[in-house]
Amino acid sequence: MAAAAPLSYSSYRTYLECPLRWKYLYVEKRPETPRGYFTFGRVVHSVLEELVRPLVVPVARRKDGGESQTTLRDWSEPTPGAAAGPPKAPVPAEELLALYDRLWSSDGYSSPDEEERYRALGRELLLRYREWLELEPPAPVAVEEHLSATWDGLAVHGYVDRIDRTPGGGLEVVDYKTSRELSEGDAAASDQLSLYQVLVEHNFRAPVERLTLLHLRSLTPLRTPPRGSRTLEPLHQRMGEVADGIREQAFEPTPGRHCSRCDFRSICPEFRPMPALEGPRLASLVDRFDALRADERRLERELAMTAAELHRAAEELGLHRVPGSRAVAVRRREVSWQYPLEAVRPILEAAEGAPRPAPETAEGVRRLLRDPTVPAPVRRKVAETGSRRVRWYWELEESDGSPR
Ligand code: SF4
Repeated sequence: MAAAAPLSYSSYRTYLECPLRWKYLYVEKRPETPRGYFTFGRVVHSVLEELVRPLVVPVARRKDGGESQTTLRDWSEPTPGAAAGPPKAPVPAEELLALYDRLWSSDGYSSPDEEERYRALGRELLLRYREWLELEPPAPVAVEEHLSATWDGLAVHGYVDRIDRTPGGGLEVVDYKTSRELSEGDAAASDQLSLYQVLVEHNFRAPVERLTLLHLRSLTPLRTPPRGSRTLEPLHQRMGEVADGIREQAFEPTPGRHCSRCDFRSICPEFRPMPALEGPRLASLVDRFDALRADERRLERELAMTAAELHRAAEELGLHRVPGSRAVAVRRREVSWQYPLEAVRPILEAAEGAPRPAPETAEGVRRLLRDPTVPAPVRRKVAETGSRRVRWYWELEESDGSPR
C-alpha cells in the first residue's frame, strides 16, 4: 500500500471531523467557497510575515534525519542569554499599510460592509502590532517556516507562524490567532502547538522552551510550557490512526453540526435527495424494515420471558428435558472459570526466573495454566485465584414423537 503523504494539522483535523470531506478536499482537490474570515486571517498572516522577516536571525538546524547538526556559516552561534545583535526597526507605518492594501483580497465577504469592517480591524490590529514590535522587539529565528519531520514513523509537516529565541537560548513557538476569543486553556490544549513543537524539535538544535498562541486582537501572548513525551503520545496515536485511515482509503461521511459549513452537501450521499421515481418503493422497504425490527425486539423479549418461566418450572420439578408437541427443550450447562487479572499480575511479578508478562484476557490466563514452561507452583497459585461460573440455558432438539 502506498505511503500516506505527510499529515498537516489542518489535514488531520479535517479527516477527524469527516473523512469524506477530507477526500473531496485532498484527493479530488475540489475548491471550497472562500470565506471572509479565512481570507482576512490569511492576509493578516502575510503582512505579519513581511513585517517580522527583516528581524529574523537564523539559528542552527538539525540535519535531515540524523543526529548530527549544522550551524549556519553566515551567523555565529549566539551564547545563551546574549542578544543576537541590535534589532532592526520594523517598516514604517505607511509602508505597512501600503503592503496591507497590496495584499488585501475581497474574496468571500458576504457584503461590502462586512469587508470594510474586517479591513478596518486589520489596519488597527497591524498598526498596534507594529508599535508593540518597537517596544518589545522579539528575537525571531524564522517566520512562516515550512517544517517537516518523521515523528516516530509518522510523516508530518506544517507552517509555523514564528519561532523566537528565548532569553535562555531556547526557542518559543508562536502561532498567530485572529479569532475573537482565546484563553490560556486554548494554548494548553492546542494540538496544533503540540505538533509545531514536534516539528521544531526535529528541525532545530535549541530546545523548545515555550509554546504560545498570540491573540492579535488584544496582543496577548498565551504561553504554555512545552509538552512532555507522555502528553504528546495520544496525539501521535490519533494522527497515526488518521494516517492509517487515509492509507486504507476509509472515506466514510461523518455527519454532524459541521455539515452546516460544508461546501459538499450537494454531492455528499448523506444529503443526496431521493430520485422522485424511486421514492415510494424505497419508502415501503424502509417501513417494512422498521416493522420487522419492532417484531424482532418484541420476539426477543418474549423469548427471554418464556425461557425464564420454563427454567423456573423445570427447576421446581427437577427436569432437564421437557417435550413439546414439535420439539424437546433440553437444559444445558456451561461452566467457565474467571480469573481476576489484578490478582494474577502480582503472582507472575513475584515469580522467580525470567519475568513473564501478565495475560490481558481470561483466555490468556487459561493458556498460561496449560503452559508447561510455567512452573507448576506458579500455575497452582494462579489457578487458586479462579472462580467457577455456571450458566444454564435451553436448546431445542427435534422431537421423535415418542412419549417419554
Ligand atoms: S456534508 Fe457533512 S457528512 Fe457530507 S462530506 Fe460534508 S461534512 Fe462530511
